[in-house]
Amino acid sequence: MITSVEVVELLKVASTYDSRKPSEKLRDAWLEAGTLARWTFDEASSAIRQHYATCTEWIMPGHVTALILAKRHQARPSTPSARPVREVLDDRNPDEVISTEAQRAAFLAEIRAAIATKGRELEADAVDTRRADPTDDGDACLDERCPWCGASVGSRCTSRGRPLRFRSCHPARAEAKTERLSRA
Ligand SMILES: [Zn+2]
Repeated sequence: MITSVEVVELLKVASTYDSRKPSEKLRDAWLEAGTLARWTFDEASSAIRQHYATCTEWIMPGHVTALILAKRHQARPSTPSARPVREVLDDRNPDEVISTEAQRAAFLAEIRAAIATKGRELEADAVDTRRADPTDDGDACLDERCPWCGASVGSRCTSRGRPLRFRSCHPARAEAKTERLSRA
């Protein structure tokens, strides 16, 4: 993990190329980036040298992170392309996942999609585990509006916005139907 003192040293290295004036603001910005992206001093220092060896652009923390990650990636054994995607994803370096805003957004989208999928699975489970209430008369009352929950004709009864799990209609709906039939 990079320290404040090391960041000051890094900015000195950078200033030998670009004559930047070190400031507390600059130091703090670089420290924050370096901490987030888990730079080590040696990696960051050689990244700055590497950057100015090949590039005229004013160096920013993002350049340092990109160069460090590229180097770490090269150092790792190559990944056979035949590996299942899931396995490759599970083994991604967390540093890489957050190295750019775009990657961070992609990573979050992936998590959200996984959560949404899980939610649908749980909902499907809830339907599968539905046990018939012995007093349930199935869908026999669907042609009556439910006086209890307000479910309209043809719709299953709901509780707090979700379909009932163990029966399709509230008992009050069956009573309402019986009453209607007896009046007819
Ligand atoms: Zn109801």
